[in-house]
Amino acid sequence: MNAVPARSTEPPLALCDVTKRYDSGGGGAVTALSHVDFAVERGEVVAVVGPSGSGKSTMLNILGLLDDPTSGGVELRGEPTAGLSAAERTDARRESLGFVFQDFHLLPTLSAVENVRLPTTFLPGDATERARELLELVGLGDRLDHTPDELSGGQKQRVAIARALVNEPDVLLADEPTGNLDRDTGTAILEEIRRIADEAGVGVVAVTHDDLVTEYADRTVELVDGVLRDV
Ligand code: ADP
Ligand code: MG
Repeated sequence: MNAVPARSTEPPLALCDVTKRYDSGGGGAVTALSHVDFAVERGEVVAVVGPSGSGKSTMLNILGLLDDPTSGGVELRGEPTAGLSAAERTDARRESLGFVFQDFHLLPTLSAVENVRLPTTFLPGDATERARELLELVGLGDRLDHTPDELSGGQKQRVAIARALVNEPDVLLADEPTGNLDRDTGTAILEEIRRIADEAGVGVVAVTHDDLVTEYADRTVELVDGVLRDV
């Protein structure tokens, strides 16, 4: 193709014909992803489902620039990432991506505000005010100075979401974001994620076993033995 579309029309994050093989010690190779094409758009929530071992975590790690495909490529706003140095990748990850994990990954000795501003530690300026605003956005304006052990599971996940947003990412990558939460709390978290996608235009890719997530998604894709298909 010769025509290069305007930058703003490019999806914020895409996989182009991505195959991932793991070579195991015994000489056998596992194909974890096979020729996967995928893009998330701004403001779109995509649920990725599939049985255990189908390649979901591999897909999320490759989308998050935490692991490399064996063949094919990852594009950020239409730009290939293959040529980036390790430092450039880290910068790209910090600038464009936010991560939310099942078990929150909060630092136990830090307050909510301190946890949220943590990703900005090595950036110029003081993100404390922004951290406060984000905690207010996720309904924790009255828990700014609480440490994780003073918060419920749902509140901890809200802190993790606020932290994932502190760098104004284009895309939020979530691994089982409701996995450790009861159904009502999970629903509240999904409503929050939905609102962030709608209001801030953040694209969301959520890997999940949870039917609830697919209800809040614009689109669900399924991995079976490393092959991605629309559901
Ligand atoms: P899921 O998250 O859907 O459970 P994974 O992406 O973790 O699936 O794994 C996909 C396949 O790749 C599985 O067969 C798994 O055993 C294999 N796999 C994952 N990570 C590695 C690794 N680091 N080395 C070798 N095989 C791996
Ligand atoms: Mg997994």
